[in-house]
Amino acid sequence: MSFAEEVLTLVAELKRLLDQLHALLPEPVVDPTTGTMSHRKVTGSPAPWHAEAGPTLMDIHEGVRRLEASLRQEVVGHLGARRGGSDGNTAAALTSIARLVHAVPEEAARRTARILSGWIRRAAEVRDIGEAERWEPLRAPAGQLPPACPYYKTFSLRVGRREGRVRCANRRCVDGDGRPPVATIDKNRLNGDAMLVWADGVTSSGVVYELISA
Ligand SMILES: [Zn+2]
Repeated sequence: MSFAEEVLTLVAELKRLLDQLHALLPEPVVDPTTGTMSHRKVTGSPAPWHAEAGPTLMDIHEGVRRLEASLRQEVVGHLGARRGGSDGNTAAALTSIARLVHAVPEEAARRTARILSGWIRRAAEVRDIGEAERWEPLRAPAGQLPPACPYYKTFSLRVGRREGRVRCANRRCVDGDGRPPVATIDKNRLNGDAMLVWADGVTSSGVVYELISA
């Protein structure tokens, strides 16, 4: 496979991942009335969007534009008009990259493939990407509070029944290793009760009554 052919495959894969990243954002990044991308700052207080998907998307959107401009510079001798910020423009820039790469020297095509692979790897590493799991809030019996997260003590635990996992939906919450808390549902070997085993080794028992019955 030539590098140009490889780029075509990588572009298709990256487009697919960009769609998935967008699906993780709780609010649209693109203003539908103007078609422009809002530039929310991600420094300082936690961003009101997916902690990883948002910045990753912004970096890739920007990088795709630069890559297209640099390929166009190489092929036609000028950078071309700068594209606007919409998702449609990113997709168009990717399509353009797949076309331009046929006209550049092999070394530039190889570099293009490497850059695209880096973005694909980064996008694929975003938490929740490709997850088919539905994360539901834990329900408590009438009159009782649901079990609290053992780390920040908020009632933000979600259960993914398909994979038998529990995680915390509080985006500020971290476990003892500084990571977003995730637990597997296990069985206490002594009494057979369900328990949660968190990734950092913490266990929670007595909080999972409804996990078994559901
Ligand atoms: Zn938590």
